[in-house]
Amino acid sequence: MNKNSKNVFCIKYLVIIKKDKLVIIKIAVCFNCSITYKEEISMNVKKMSHPNESIKCQVNTCHYYMAGDYCAAEKIEVKPRNASSSEETDCVTFISSTNA
Ligand code: SF4
Repeated sequence: MNKNSKNVFCIKYLVIIKKDKLVIIKIAVCFNCSITYKEEISMNVKKMSHPNESIKCQVNTCHYYMAGDYCAAEKIEVKPRNASSSEETDCVTFISSTNA
């Protein structure tokens, strides 16, 4: 690839149903180098009727929050990669309880 050329990406979103769950995949294709980058950016996570005992969370504005500072999501995803402190991390499974 030419050092001075700019990479131009085409970004598309693919929405699929995977095991009865809605999954959105972001696909970026570089026009210069043809590298394709895929990232699963959201997943419709099931809210269980009981807390996920392995997750303690105080975010009481989340759709998945459960009394006693528990999370009822069947699974969570935390980002970003290469975070250097807990303050830099975020639960991307969070959905506002007012938007759920
Ligand atoms: S999904 Fe994330 S923010 Fe929401 S209750 Fe669970 S751990 Fe907390």
